[in-house]
Amino acid sequence: MRIGVLALQGAVREHLQMVEACGQEAVAIKRVEELTDIDGLILPGGESTAIRRLMDRYGFTEALRKSELPMFGTCAGVILLAERIIGQEGGHLGKLDITVERNSFGRQVDSFEVELDILGLEEKAHAVFIRAPHIDAVGEGVQVLSKVGEKIVAVRSDSHLGISFHPELTDSLVFHKYFIEMVQENMTKEVLA
Ligand code: GLN
Repeated sequence: MRIGVLALQGAVREHLQMVEACGQEAVAIKRVEELTDIDGLILPGGESTAIRRLMDRYGFTEALRKSELPMFGTCAGVILLAERIIGQEGGHLGKLDITVERNSFGRQVDSFEVELDILGLEEKAHAVFIRAPHIDAVGEGVQVLSKVGEKIVAVRSDSHLGISFHPELTDSLVFHKYFIEMVQENMTKEVLA
């Protein structure tokens, strides 16, 4: 299995290391042609407006809208995956039927760390939130995996995983392992189809 990390801006190297720590091959994706060589793609955190512009410029927006690759968005990445963004017109990739609100944890707590419970897993995740979005609403087919207070911070659909925080800045591999399992399921489905 080869997992790509979109390498336009943001926490790329850390994600590559986490994927390798899970025993899978990790590839930094800088050009759109490289998308054909991978089985799943991580969209890292950073600044979603900046990443969005680079994605438009280098052809990723168009390619990824059409793509059936499983995707995992962290922080800015989940904003890019969302169908709806509060205060903005339309989403970017529109892969997850969710509404997100950017920078939604307030100034005084721009950054914080918590241990998160995850639906269906015994292991907790250590999570770092940095000017993080939250998920305000989810549509059908989207499962809520974790919350901080009343705010949803992790969701999944069949082949898309979205979280508000940065697991790659901790040593907690839980969500990377979770995504790798999703990619594995997807590959099995393709073989059976
Ligand atoms: N606040 C950023 C945005 O709205 C996301 C922050 C992050 O990825 N750490 O794009």
